[in-house]
Amino acid sequence: MSEVPRIFAPYFPVRSKQDRSKQHRILITGGAGFLGSNLSERLLAAGHRVICLDNLLTGRLENIAHLRGHPNFAFVKHDVIVPFEIDGCIERIYNLACPASPPKYQLDPIHTFQTSVIGAMNVLELAQRKGARILQASTSEVYGDPEITPQSESYRGQVNTFGPRACYDEGKRAAETLFHDHFHAYGTDIRIMRIFNTYGPRMDPEDGRVVSNFVMQALQGMPITLYGAGEQTRSLCYVDDLLDGMHALMENNDIGPAPVNLGNPVEFSVAQIAQVVCEMTGSRSKLIHCDLPVDDPRQRRPDITRARTLLNWQPKVDLRAGLVPTIAYFQSQILGQPAAQEA
Ligand code: NAD
Ligand code: UDP
Repeated sequence: MSEVPRIFAPYFPVRSKQDRSKQHRILITGGAGFLGSNLSERLLAAGHRVICLDNLLTGRLENIAHLRGHPNFAFVKHDVIVPFEIDGCIERIYNLACPASPPKYQLDPIHTFQTSVIGAMNVLELAQRKGARILQASTSEVYGDPEITPQSESYRGQVNTFGPRACYDEGKRAAETLFHDHFHAYGTDIRIMRIFNTYGPRMDPEDGRVVSNFVMQALQGMPITLYGAGEQTRSLCYVDDLLDGMHALMENNDIGPAPVNLGNPVEFSVAQIAQVVCEMTGSRSKLIHCDLPVDDPRQRRPDITRARTLLNWQPKVDLRAGLVPTIAYFQSQILGQPAAQEA
C-alpha cells in the first residue's frame, strides 16, 4: 500500500491495555452533522474517546460546540475524499460522512459520489491499517423507488443510474460493494446499516428534508410545501432509536457483514406527516402543492425482522413522541437560543 499522508494527531492521554477494552478510541466521519453530533455526545457520555472528522459541508460547528472542551473529544476539519492517517489506536469507525438531504447532495453530485465511494475506500483502508471495526451508514435509498413493501435486505432495489438522486443512491450502493469486498479480500471487520428516514434535534433547519421543512414552516406560519399530491410515504425514525440500533449493530460480535435495515416500520403519507406537524405546533399554515421532485420514491417502509431477531432492536418512540423534542429544538433555532444540551 502506498504511503498515506498523516494529516493530524489529536492528543489524548495514553490508555492501558485494560482501559482500551472498555474505553474505545472512536472515529466518526461526518461527526458534526445531525446523526454524527448526537452519536458523539452519546459515545462521550459512555466514556469513550471521540475523534470527529468533518469538512462542514452540511454539518455545523454549533452541533458540537458543547463538546469541544471535553477532554475526550477532538474535532478535525477534513474531507474524506483526501486520504488521511490518524496517530495511535482506533478501535471503531462510524462512517457517516455524506450529505443526506436530497437538495444538499444534489448541489455537487460528483463530490457526493466521491464522498460515498472514494471516502469509503479511504476509511476502509484506515480501518484495515488500524484493525478497527467499521460501520457504514448506508441508506434505504439503495432500494430506489421500491416495487415491494416493506423492503427487506434481500430486495435488490429499483434505482435510476442517471437521475438526480443517482449520485447518492448509486454512491451508497457502490460503497456497500466496497465494504463487502474489503471484508472478503482483507477480513476487514465491517458492519452495514441501511438507515431509513431519521429525524430529531440537531437537524439543520435549512437542510430541506421533510421534517425540518414542515416543522420550520409550521412554526413560522409559512405555507407547508407538499411535493406532489403528498401521497408518497415515508417511515420516520426518531434519532435516539436509530442510535440504539446503530450501537447494537456496531457492538454485535456475531452479526457479520450483511446489511441491516434500521428504521421505524410505521409508515405515513407525506400529507399525514404535514397534518401531525400542524396539529402539534398548533399552526394555521396552509398546505400548498409543489412539483414532485424527479425520481422521488413513492413508498418506503423497512422490514426490520433482521434487526429485531439479531440485535433485539426495534424503535420505541412513535412519531408524536419524537416530534415533541424535535419541535422544541426547531423553536429554539428560530429564537436563536441554543437547544438544551447534555454535556
Ligand atoms: P448530515 O448532512 O447532517 O451529516 C453529514 C455530515 O457529513 C455533515 O456534517 C457533513 O459536513 C459531513 N460530510 C459530508 N461530506 C463530507 C466529506 N466529503 N468529508 C467529510 N465530511 C463530510 O446528515 P445525517 O442525517 O447526519 O446523515 C449521516 C449519514 O447517515 C450520512 O452518510 C447519510 O447518508 C446517512 N443516512 C442518514 C439518514 C437520515 O435520515 N438522517 C438516512 C439514510 C442514511
Ligand atoms: N417532501 C415534501 N415537502 C418538503 C420536503 C420533502 O413533500 O418540503 C417530501 C419529499 O418529496 C419526499 C418526502 O417528503 O417524498 C421525504 O423527503 P426527504 O427529503 O426528507 O427525504 P427522502 O426520503 O426523499 O430522501
